[in-house]
Amino acid sequence: MSDHAQISAQSCDLADQVVAAMREHGSPGYPRAFEVWYAHLSGEMPAVSMAMSAILASSEGKVGVADIDNLYDRFIGNDRLAKQAERTSLQVLGEIDGLMSLVDKTLVSSERYHGRLSAMSEDVPPPADRQRLREWVEALVLSTREEVTRKTQLEAQLRNSSNEIRNLREALEMTRAEALTDPLTGLANRRHFEEMLQKSIDQATLRREPFALVMADIDYFKKFNDAHGHLTGDQVLRLVARTMKDKFKEKAVITRFGGEEFAIILPESDLVAGKFGAETVRQALLTRELVKRSTNENLGRITISLGVAGYRRGDTAGSLVDRADQALMQAKRDGRNRTVTEEAVEALSRVA
Ligand code: GH3
Ligand code: MG
Ligand code: MG
Repeated sequence: MSDHAQISAQSCDLADQVVAAMREHGSPGYPRAFEVWYAHLSGEMPAVSMAMSAILASSEGKVGVADIDNLYDRFIGNDRLAKQAERTSLQVLGEIDGLMSLVDKTLVSSERYHGRLSAMSEDVPPPADRQRLREWVEALVLSTREEVTRKTQLEAQLRNSSNEIRNLREALEMTRAEALTDPLTGLANRRHFEEMLQKSIDQATLRREPFALVMADIDYFKKFNDAHGHLTGDQVLRLVARTMKDKFKEKAVITRFGGEEFAIILPESDLVAGKFGAETVRQALLTRELVKRSTNENLGRITISLGVAGYRRGDTAGSLVDRADQALMQAKRDGRNRTVTEEAVEALSRVA
């Protein structure tokens, strides 16, 4: 068997193993899941294998959507993007190096030209010496022509390089934007959320401005997926994202926190404003009846529960997320499809 045939036979075996393992562990079957399992079983990414083994050990051998998405975001998606960004940065640096050495070379030859010119200007032949005068003019024309050619070449190369650098910079910006975006919903991803939350805390501390954090979670989403399929579930995630983009103010940082959870940073908002924003989205979703496009089947309505916390002096990202999360969990306990604030949670704990 040739090398090539052997390699493809091996990867076929591995693909079979991947499919078998996915079935055995009740894994979701979308392409990302395949990539994660492949990375795990091929042994090419030890970090994935370790994390996957830990999940299998702690969940009676079952792997869910949240696990897969988490592994993908942590090890595969970001790794690929980071490598891409690094490659582009290296290309930019290489291009700049080339440009610098070109400029250096041109400066040296330009200095040489000016040196030659000033030497020649001190050695102008007398007008009567026609022969020397002709040679002098010819030498001058030759050096000047060479200089002009060099300049024109340099200009063309500079133009090429600056186009190249512009393209590379755009590629880099796109990679960065991709690394901060959740591909399914187009919202900011968890990593972006963490950056923005820290920024909001720093700013609020400095300027004494309030801001609110809303955590939202789709109600009974597992049931929905079980009843209508994962792809239709994905459409619901997109719908919720769109509704949030429509209803929250422009400055809000709307993020997919993970799975079917969203986190929204509302600048310049206190707890009351935060609750108002949360309710606006919840109610907007209530008016949306879900209809499956392919079959016209009515899928009913989807609801979300929300928890709101307001920034307090001394808050860390963790403490603020924690209070919003507690409020969200209270909303779930109170029956779902509602917004609960941290104050309500605190009032309850005083009573208890
Ligand atoms: P609760 O009201 O308590 O939040 O119930 P739930 O069923 O929504 O919560 P649970 O945490 O039990 O299940 C979350 C479900 O979200 C499980 C998983 O199927 C689904 N989910 C998470 N991420 C995705 C995704 O990217 N696409 C789809 N379609 N479903 C997802
Ligand atoms: Mg849920
Ligand atoms: Mg959840």
